[in-house]
This record gives sequence, C-alpha cells and structure tokens, in this order.
Amino acid sequence: MKIDSLPLPISLRTKYSALGITELYPPQAECVDAGLFERKNLLVAIPTASGKTLVAEMAMQKEIADGGKCLYIVPLKALAAEKYEDFSGKEVKVGIATGDPDQRDEYLGRYDIIVATSEKTDSLLRNRSEWLKRISLLVVDEIHLIGDPSRGATLEMVIAKLRYQNPAMQIIGLSATMGNPEELAKWLDAGLITSEWRPVDLREGVYHNGAIHFHGAERIVPTPKKDDDLNLLLDTVGEGGQCLVFVSSRRSAEAYAKRAATVLKKKSTELDGYADRIAKADATPSGKVLANAVRNGAAFHHAGLPRQAREAVEEGFRKGDIQVIASTPTLAAGLNLPARRVIIRDYQRYEAGIGMNPIPVMEYRQMAGRAGRPRLDPYGEAVLIAKDREAVDRLFEEFIDAPAENISSQCQKENELRNHLLALITTGFASTHAEVEGFMEKSFYASQKTTHRRLDRNIGKALEYLVQSGMITEEADGGLWGTQFGVLASRLYLDPETASMLRETLERQEMFSAFGMLHLLCMTPDMFRFYLKASDERLVDQVFCERGDELWCEELSEEFFAAVKTALVAEAWCEEVPEDVICENFGVGAGDIHAVVENLRWLMHAAGRITHEFAPRFDSEVRDLEIRIENGVKEELLPLITLRGIGRVRARRLFDRGITTPEALLLADSRDVVSILGNVLAKNVLEQAAKKTGKAAEFPTLPEEEKIEAVP
Ligand code: ADP
Repeated sequence: MKIDSLPLPISLRTKYSALGITELYPPQAECVDAGLFERKNLLVAIPTASGKTLVAEMAMQKEIADGGKCLYIVPLKALAAEKYEDFSGKEVKVGIATGDPDQRDEYLGRYDIIVATSEKTDSLLRNRSEWLKRISLLVVDEIHLIGDPSRGATLEMVIAKLRYQNPAMQIIGLSATMGNPEELAKWLDAGLITSEWRPVDLREGVYHNGAIHFHGAERIVPTPKKDDDLNLLLDTVGEGGQCLVFVSSRRSAEAYAKRAATVLKKKSTELDGYADRIAKADATPSGKVLANAVRNGAAFHHAGLPRQAREAVEEGFRKGDIQVIASTPTLAAGLNLPARRVIIRDYQRYEAGIGMNPIPVMEYRQMAGRAGRPRLDPYGEAVLIAKDREAVDRLFEEFIDAPAENISSQCQKENELRNHLLALITTGFASTHAEVEGFMEKSFYASQKTTHRRLDRNIGKALEYLVQSGMITEEADGGLWGTQFGVLASRLYLDPETASMLRETLERQEMFSAFGMLHLLCMTPDMFRFYLKASDERLVDQVFCERGDELWCEELSEEFFAAVKTALVAEAWCEEVPEDVICENFGVGAGDIHAVVENLRWLMHAAGRITHEFAPRFDSEVRDLEIRIENGVKEELLPLITLRGIGRVRARRLFDRGITTPEALLLADSRDVVSILGNVLAKNVLEQAAKKTGKAAEFPTLPEEEKIEAVP
C-alpha cells in the first residue's frame, strides 16, 4: 500500500518521503484495512521495530486534520521526550506533559498531540483538566504493560476513565507480542492486528562452544579469546556490524564494556568527542569507566547514567562509531537502537524469595527484536549463550520456541484499589458503593474473569481502609464522599498509605527533624529506596545507633534500613557533598542521585501541603527543606538561593566570599559580586536583593572593556 494513496496531510507525506518511506509495511497496511482512518479501535500487537509508531502517527495526523485532539501515553518520561521529537512538525503542535503532579496544566489544551506518561495522565484526570474531555484519539504505547505488577493498574484505570469520560474516543493500543491479545482487544472493543512480519529477517540461535546453533543451521564463530561473549562481539564487528549485549545488572554492564574496550581498541576523533562529552557530564567513577570504554568503541547504558552521558552513547552508536553497548534488560523496551547482533547473555534474574528465575519470554522477545537495522543489515541475529551442551535445547524451548506470556489485570490488588478508588470517588466517577462496583465491572480484570468475587471483596476492604483513614465518608444510604484530606491526597497523587503516614507522623511530632522528615518520606510506598548492600550495613547500623533520636519511624524492617541509606544520600546532597563522593560512599550512580532528588522533590512538595493542613507549626521548616532538596544546598545558603539566577555553585561562591544574604550583597564590593556573577546577572541579582530588602542597590557602571563574564 502506497503512502500516496492514504488520506494524509501533505506535510506528513513529505516527511515520510524525505525519510525514504513510500510504502506501508504489511502489518501497517492491515491496520489501514482494519479501519485505522475510520476511527476504529485497534490493538496492534506486532514485533518490535515493525513500525508501530508510524501507524499511530498517521492516525493522529488524520485525526488532527479532521479537527481532533490526540493523547499519546508512554511508559517512561525519557520516551515522552523521544516521541515529542518524533511527532513535532510545522503543521502539528505537540506538547509534553511532565509538570508536577498536582497541576492541571490547562495550557496543554492548546496542543494537537499531548505526550504523557500514564501516571501524569492519571494525575491530570484527578485534577480535572478540562482539555482531557476533548481528546478524540488515545494512543497507548506498550499497552501490554497493563500486566506490569507495579504500573499496570494505573494504566488500566487511566484507559477506563478516559473511555468513560469520552465515549466516542478512538483508541489505538500498541503492544509487543503477547500470549492473549484477543482478551485485551475484546476489552478495548478493538480490531486486532497480529503478525510475525519483520522488516529485517531475524535469526534466533544459541551459542555454544564456537558455534551458533540455529534451527537447521549453524554458524562457526572464531574463538581468539577465552570469553564467548567477546568472541561473539569480535565476530560481528569483523563483519561490519554492531552489538547490543543484554546483561542482568548495572555492574555487569559496566564490566562488559570495560572488557570489550580492551579487545576492540578502536580509536577515532569521533570516539574521543563522545568520551569528552561523557567525562564532562559524569565525573563519578562509573562516568570515568564509561568515558574510557567509549574512547575504545565500547559503552554501557543503564538508568544510573546522567542524561547527557546516555545521549552521547546513543548518538555514538546510531552513527556507527560505538561498536557495542552493554545494557540492563530494563532498557530493552525503551532503547530504540537496533544492532546487527543482539547477545542475550544473562537470561536469568534474581527474585527475592525465589532465587534465580528465567526472564519472561516477552522480555526476551523485546531484546531479540532489537536485532537488525532496517536497510543497513542484511539480517539481524539474536543469540543466547549456553553454559553447556544440554542448555542449548533448553534455551530453544524456554525462549526461542516458547509462546509469549498472557498478560493479566493488576487492578484487583488491595493497595492499587485504595489508590484508584479514592481517585474515582474524589473526582466524581463514582459516588456510591454500587457505582464503584459498576465502574470496576468494566475493568480489564472483570472482562478477563467469570466471577468477580475477589474483586468485590477487595473493593470492600479498600473502601473500609479509606473510611478508617479519614479520606472518605460513607453515608447510611451508601453515598461516598471524599473528605478534604482525601481530596488533597488524591490531587497530590499520593498513595493513600503515604498520605496517612505523613499526616499521622507529622501530627505526632513535637520537634522538627530534617533527617527524620527525609527518612519518613523514604519509608513511604511512593519513594524508591536503594537496596542495602553488605557494605552498607555498618554505616546504616552506626547511623541508627548514633542518630536514632532524629528518626520519626520506629518499625525496624528491611525497608527501614533501606530508607536510612536513601535518606543519607538525600542528606549528603543537601549538605553539598560533591556527587562523585556521594557515588563513592554509597555505591550509587550520578543518575541515581538525580532520581532520589526528583522523587523527593515531588514528595516534599506534597508533604508541604499536608503539613500546612495538619501540622502548620512546621510550615517553614518543611519549606526550607524542600528548597534545600531542590537545590542541593546547606541551610546557610537559603537566603541566597531564593534569588533568581543563583544556583548552588554561585550561592556557595558568594557565601565563601562572605556575602551570605541579600543584605550583604547590597553592602559588598560590587566588583566582588561581578567577578562571581558576571555583569548582567550581578545587576539583575542586586536589583532583586534591593527589592527584597527595600534598600537601594548601588551598582557602578563598568566600562565596556571591563565587561566580566560569569564564572560558569
Ligand atoms: P516499533 O514502534 O514497532 O518498534 P518503529 O515505529 O519505531 O517500530 O519503526 C522502526 C523504524 O522503521 C523507524 O526508523 C521507522 O522510521 C521505520 N519505518 C516504519 N515504517 C516504515 C515503512 N513503511 N517503510 C520504511 N521504514 C519504516
């Protein structure tokens, strides 16, 4: 099917023709035949790299041309940015919803396409963003994540709420291949497109003892090195291809990149360029390992890397300079970087209480699907490495020939129900027990099961919890109302348990403790916690003994100690400990520190609102701590940091020069101020200081030739 024959705006056709896309891939053509342009709901469950994004883009552009508005839901924030780039163009206005959770973000209503994560969409629904009612096409990327234990329930409820609110809305679900796509299609009232078609031939095999075994074929791999995973790499690179290697942990990814660098030893000015960018973006030990590896043509990629380092790796690989990336499996879904050969080295994962377990087939498929770059590689190869001869057949059975798993709804779980039922009640989707049950009758869970006893029982328990914790009230006639506390918790997008923990603990305290507050936040279900390593135990025990009276929580669980470690990282950040020292002391990556800060920033903001309602005596302490988390500064820098244009580095420089407050800024020798801030900023900051203190700013005009640039 030719692109020219489709009802698409000229601008989109021009864009595709510039990319060399003139004809639809067969599964894309099937989508058109199934009513893509007639606003039919579709579930597109086809292999990775077979062109799902293009299907969505065509439908969205047609919808916009017809006066509609589109919402594109992605699983990760990083993917939101990628899709934003993909869809932006002269003719369509694309917006990205990444603001704080309790915002309505009404300005997003101006856009034709809004890209958002499922959590952000949920929070927009809770804050009753008006523009959401105008969405006429919903695209859900990676919709199979409805079965994900930690995030699936939110995705399911978001889809259910949007459909309830906008009954005429078209839905397009994009999915990896799964075991039971028919069930999901039925729930969505959608036509189902499944296919095994791929743009590049994919060969899947198992490596053992110098050969890759395929179904009915074998490929001999030279073995100059003693390690199989390096021989497979050298074999690919020798043929002009690139490799992606999936391993089980960040540490293994780093170790592989280091080893690969010693055998590849590629040198080029381009590689040096990427390495310099990485060294600049990440001064931690892990950043140094990465920069060194990249200088030799090898890299690793995981969520602990800062964004600029990740971008340098991706660009270097896309342009063909970096030959191999070792990556953790969590990135298989998000990483859109095809390679000639994908090596799946670690296909087992440690699970607490179970031990080593094979990864799901769906996950194997997503990794394997990255093999083969369309138009660049003659074929793609996905290779598992067997430890012994017997393992060869087993790996064929367990992964290559195995059917993908079925996905199942996660929304019957009690903790998920507490959270989502509170939102249903406080935003008016349901106002009686019967209406709650009625809404949930339309869930994917209900459509999968013949009996809903478990769901009904858990709904009862969740409602009871919400009543007891003061978030809803139940009237004699069955009417349900959100209390002020319940409405606040839902709008702040807090897990009800988090909201309760914050309220109860804050109400109980007589004295404020910054470390106690950080630790409390790290104990809540809304905060991620670092794992405790054996090497952390001494430090954490010591802190517990010496600073126990600063802590507000008492239950001595595994979470408690993990929260102590996480709070210590946050505290070190607020004490201006340099990032590389934090990484060294706690065995974390620079990206992890940013993740802690980001997570805490939101929770501190929410805690501030709860404090104001229920423990206003701590208002100013909580506000100060929020500013310290946001900026990574000691308390002494607070007076300076609130000036616009002053960040942690400049504030520290001013402070160390004896300029400690806005008043001191006005009294200081202006040359001193200028030497730190540069002409333009100094003037602006002095004006702000004057306004703040009600005093006049004296600012001598410097001659042109003396113009001084700011210290970076
Ligand atoms: P998926 O979302 O299924 O993993 P993508 O939509 O990202 O796959 O597509 C993979 C690549 O294939 C992209 O670079 C895209 O531009 C290209 N592509 C998609 N459809 C076509 C087509 N009909 N002809 C040529 N290239 C295409």
